[in-house]
Parts: sequence; C-alpha cells; structure tokens
Amino acid sequence: AKEEGRNSYRFYSKEMTTLAFERLVMEENLQQALENKEFRLYYQPQFDTRTGEISGLEALIRWEHPKLGLLLPDQFIPLAEENELILKIDRWVMRTAMEQFVQWYEEGLNPGRLGLNLVIRQLNSSDFIRTLEECIAQTGFLPSWLILEISEEQVMSKPDEYIKKLQILHDMGITIAIDDFGTGYSSLAYLRRLPVSMLKIDHSIIEHIPENTDSVAIVKAIIALTESLGISVVAEGVEEEKQKISLMEYGYYYMQGYYYCKPVVADEIEKLFLKK
Ligand code: C2E
Ligand code: CA
Ligand code: CA
Ligand code: CA
Repeated sequence: AKEEGRNSYRFYSKEMTTLAFERLVMEENLQQALENKEFRLYYQPQFDTRTGEISGLEALIRWEHPKLGLLLPDQFIPLAEENELILKIDRWVMRTAMEQFVQWYEEGLNPGRLGLNLVIRQLNSSDFIRTLEECIAQTGFLPSWLILEISEEQVMSKPDEYIKKLQILHDMGITIAIDDFGTGYSSLAYLRRLPVSMLKIDHSIIEHIPENTDSVAIVKAIIALTESLGISVVAEGVEEEKQKISLMEYGYYYMQGYYYCKPVVADEIEKLFLKK
C-alpha cells in the first residue's frame, strides 16, 4: 500500500508545483505519524517566583520523525492547522497531557495547572467542547487545572465571534489565557469583554528587558492594565537573570523560559521538580 501511495504522488506531482507536492507528502506523513505514535509531549514549567514553586506546565508537542529526527511544532503545526489534522493532533495532546496530570495528582505530586495551546480551528469546530468534556470525564481531569492558551493574533481576528465560545469554556471552570500577548493589537475594550484571566507576554518583548525602554514601558503598562482587570500575567521566554530581576521589580511573578527550564519530557519534569 505504501508503494502505491508513492506512485500516486509521482502522478500528481506532474501537475503540481514542488511545494504543493511536498505539502501533500507532509500531510500524508502527519496522518501516519499519529497512527505510528511518533508524536511526543514535552512540558515546560512555569514558576511562581515568590515561592519558587511550579505553578503549571505548558504542553508542547514534538514529532520524532523516523528520518528527520526531532521536529519542532513550527515545522509541522502550521500545515496541520490548514486542515482538520490539527483537530486530531490536539485531541491526542489533550488526552495524553490530561492522563499524565491525573497520574501525577494521584501520586500526590503537584504539577500545578496544565497549559494547552488552542487554535481557532478547534474553537470553530462544532465538536471541540464535546471532545473536551469527554476527555475530562474519561480521564478524571479537573477543569480547574486547565489553561487554554490562544494567541492574541488569532482571537483578535474576530473577537465577537469567539466571545460566546470562550465564555462556555470559562463557565466550565477553565482558565482562558491570551498567548503571545503584545504582538497583536488588542484593545482594552476587548480585553474587558473576553472572559480572559491570564496573559502570556510574548518573548519578543521580554527579550529586550531591561535595556529597551519601549519594552520596559510595554511590560509596565500591561501590569498596570491587568491589575485593574484582575488578570494574571506570565512572562515568557525569560532567559537571563537580569530579565527575571527587572520583571519582579515591575510586579511580575509568573515566569517561563530557558532560564528556569527548557521543555522536557514528563520523566524529566518528575526528576527535576516533582519528586525532588
Ligand atoms: P508558544 O505557545 O508561544 O510556546 C512557547 C515557545 O517558546 C515554545 O516553542 C518554547 O519551547 C519556546 N521557549 C520557551 N522558553 C524559551 C526561552 O527562554 N527563549 C525562547 N526564545 N523560546 C522559549 P515550541 O515548543 O517550539 O512551540 C512553538 C509554538 O508551537 C508554540 O508557541 C505554540 O504556538 C505551538 N505549539 C506547540 N505545541 C503545540 C500543540 O500541542 N498544539 C498546538 N496547536 N500548538 C502547539
Ligand atoms: Ca502557548
Ligand atoms: Ca507564547
Ligand atoms: Ca505561539
């Protein structure tokens, strides 16, 4: 059957550009990767610098490609997002991470909350909420443990359309976070109307702290804004101590980045943090 598949690619490729051909192959490979269990889930901890404890873990997917090695999400998620494949992949992510969290909590360990990346295609899919409820019921995961992260760019593309759906999730007890915050054009009006209780500040802003006065002004403005709205903030991409120190001075507590830990597999999370 594999041989047949290859021949049909060759047939199609005559009418297609190389790029379209490569995409077709990649889509086919992504489908097979799910079946062959080639995806791996990594976790990156988030810390509360006041206590030094883990406040949560963000699940980040990797693809252990049999020929190409470990692939990062930017190398395959954008393509998967163009069709229904992302729904299947993220369903796997959701289930795997929830099972892991339930296991940790049952062992008496405390991984904090689980951050899952959500894309608009999921929010638009008619059975996303049912899938989520099913997954929660089947694994024994608690909705209050969950943070759904959606990028500012995606949610602000059509905020009015998404308010209702995000409200349903919020009413289930799930935390909604705006990811990559500071890269798009959120208006204060929308931040008020969206049921959002967390912002994750994009690493491109954190990167220039404390040297760049514009970046400093932005992170200070965000803190001032979120305090009045009761929204918590996470600084992403913290790589150096000076960033951490400055951010703490401005009133930031929650941090995530290579300075603390890069994304690692569940066993490493246990060894480094949960069972130490
Ligand atoms: P993101 O949600 O903004 O995730 C944070 C990214 O920053 C991760 O990249 C992480 O490895 C990286 N990072 C962490 N600390 C640092 C640091 O100190 N410095 C710098 N420069 N980068 C840092 P990663 O794992 O390559 O993921 C890239 C993006 O792919 C994610 O961005 C997210 O949008 C998407 N993604 C990852 N996993 C999934 C998934 O399971 N489902 C979906 N739909 N999207 C995913
Ligand atoms: Ca994220
Ligand atoms: Ca981010
Ligand atoms: Ca992102």
